[in-house]
Amino acid sequence: MNSVHTTCPYCGVGCGVVAQREANGAVSVHGDTQHPANFGRLCVKGAALGETTGRQGRLLYPEINGERASWEAALDEAATRLRAIIDTHGPQAVAFYASGQLLTEDYYAANKLMKGFIGAANIDTNSRLCMSSAVVGYKRAFGADAVPCSYEDLEQTDLLIFVGSNAAWAHPVLYQRIAAAKQARPEMKIVVIDPRRTATCDIADLHLALAPGSDAGLFVGLLNALAGELLPGRFDGQDAALAAAREWDVARVAAFCGLAHSDVARFYDWFLSMPTAMTLYTMGINQSSSGSDKCNAIINVHLASGKLGRPGCGPFSLTGQPNAMGGREVGGLANQLACHMGFEPADIARLGRFWGSERIAQTPGLMAVELFEAIGRGEVKAVWIMGTNPAVSLPDSDAVRQSLSRCELVMISEVAAKTDTSHFAHVRFPAQGWGEKNGTVTNSERRISRQRPFLPAPGETRPDWWIVAQMARRLGAGEAFGWQHPQEIFCEHAALSGFENDGTRAFDISGLAGLTREAYDALSPVQWPVTATMPAGTARLLTEKTGWRGGRLAMVAVVPALPQARPDARYPFWLNTGRIRDQWHTMTRTGTVARLMQHQPLPRVSIHPDDAVREGVREGDLVDVVSAQGFMVAWVALSEAQQPGALFVPMHWNAHFATRGRVNALVAPVCCAHSGQPESKQTAVRLQRR
Ligand code: SF4
Repeated sequence: MNSVHTTCPYCGVGCGVVAQREANGAVSVHGDTQHPANFGRLCVKGAALGETTGRQGRLLYPEINGERASWEAALDEAATRLRAIIDTHGPQAVAFYASGQLLTEDYYAANKLMKGFIGAANIDTNSRLCMSSAVVGYKRAFGADAVPCSYEDLEQTDLLIFVGSNAAWAHPVLYQRIAAAKQARPEMKIVVIDPRRTATCDIADLHLALAPGSDAGLFVGLLNALAGELLPGRFDGQDAALAAAREWDVARVAAFCGLAHSDVARFYDWFLSMPTAMTLYTMGINQSSSGSDKCNAIINVHLASGKLGRPGCGPFSLTGQPNAMGGREVGGLANQLACHMGFEPADIARLGRFWGSERIAQTPGLMAVELFEAIGRGEVKAVWIMGTNPAVSLPDSDAVRQSLSRCELVMISEVAAKTDTSHFAHVRFPAQGWGEKNGTVTNSERRISRQRPFLPAPGETRPDWWIVAQMARRLGAGEAFGWQHPQEIFCEHAALSGFENDGTRAFDISGLAGLTREAYDALSPVQWPVTATMPAGTARLLTEKTGWRGGRLAMVAVVPALPQARPDARYPFWLNTGRIRDQWHTMTRTGTVARLMQHQPLPRVSIHPDDAVREGVREGDLVDVVSAQGFMVAWVALSEAQQPGALFVPMHWNAHFATRGRVNALVAPVCCAHSGQPESKQTAVRLQRR
């Protein structure tokens, strides 16, 4: 079989992959040298993709209450029960919970059904756990959810700042590109802002090991240092932002962040003196009860310094998932409509005209954490979970399991036969997986790439969009879901982005609305906006050439805040959560590859050796990690990379690999008030010897 150019399904770097099915059925993969995200590079997870494509562990047939059923029967059962719940309790009693693993076409279909035809906005996604604070940050500053930069900027900058990002493990190919740039231009400075000494620090000129969650103080202080460079009235909100920053001199920042005065001063000096600078941020910033403000504290300094809209400049949020951006574009978040539209009357009316529906959701829906809380209270009685595993990944995951166990109707669209979440499902729809699916994804730099199929779909698996369309027909909305191919969905999505768009909506891919089936199949990676005047896409936003489509730029006044759950006498340690190098999310795929499991085969709690002595634990001991929320079991790993007083546990383990290995059982469901993103990064805990 010929090789197929497709895209890695793991992280938001969005690497191009060339995949081939060999005569013996094995799948070989290598990096796509033509893809502008990776130019042939792959990380260890991407390189092992071929080992994840077997049928073992797959959900191959529809099931009702654990028994195999036909597609007709499973869809009829789910639709009949959904209809009854909607008729009795109204559309707000049902919800969809989707995933950044879905392709854009799948996501578009699910959002259209819920917000356009069921008539509620209760569709949220695991991107809520990932990027929603970044979305709020961009919207407040730029008027739109628009990432201004490109990957090529990373290689052109003078000062590259990682904050809340262990890119060496979580976005490895980007890290490799940056490491190569640093090697080629040793004068390029790299700063890592992270409580832990991570692998990313290997290329750092300066590691600021700040107190957990204190990041905003560092950037508010930097804004104060930049205040003299700003012309009065340059940005909306400027006076308030500067007033909030006024008291934050270097001494106060150093005390707040637990850093040396000289290190803070050096960082500020570099930022002020370097012609270009980029700030890369991800979960360490977003997953915070003040995550949106942290994002705006970062954007503020780029606005104030003019380090924006030029090569090598800008604030750059790195998305966790392969299609978190695509989900944002189609309206996968409960507080937005399709194509980045909001719930303003004009947007609702516009969407109604385009979809030919009078049932468009009128108000924002429930966000991830509140959605599962509403299920627990019995207010949401049916949930359809697509391609994600909330029983592991949501905070307070024991409570999530209880909610699911009480829910009247749980449906899942899933690749894996057994997950922690599928245990609670009444109806299971077998979905196609990577290598079988056909559609598009958008990576961190707004680049739309094709995922192309190269494997036969096993069993009776179907595309997610097809399952949604079948459900829509049974719910009486069939005409609007009559697609035969993902190209038709993509073109509809692209047409909507340009529909009555007077240039004020940044997301615009109307230039792709007329793609034929052949052109869609052959689509090369392209960065949005893609319009009639910019048919080849747009590398950078906010430039002099592209200007800005959403109006004036704005600063946001930020008062630095620490995480809500802080150590005390009962729970004396900070607990930080994050990824490890060789695993992806809840391990349903990477956990099946022996060589990926070798890196860290067990859930471990990393602890500074001095703390270990005080706690009386040694390397390899089995301990309980206990918070006010719950507990997990982990093996002790001594690490000089940890700050004294702070622990680290990976987020990946699920009940199939370690019965009590779920770190999210410890995390409180505390969220950012603006974004609804949970504070998954920091929790207060104690250790208990077994
Ligand atoms: Fe896949 Fe991300 Fe690795 Fe690239 S860096 S190969 S997208 S996991």
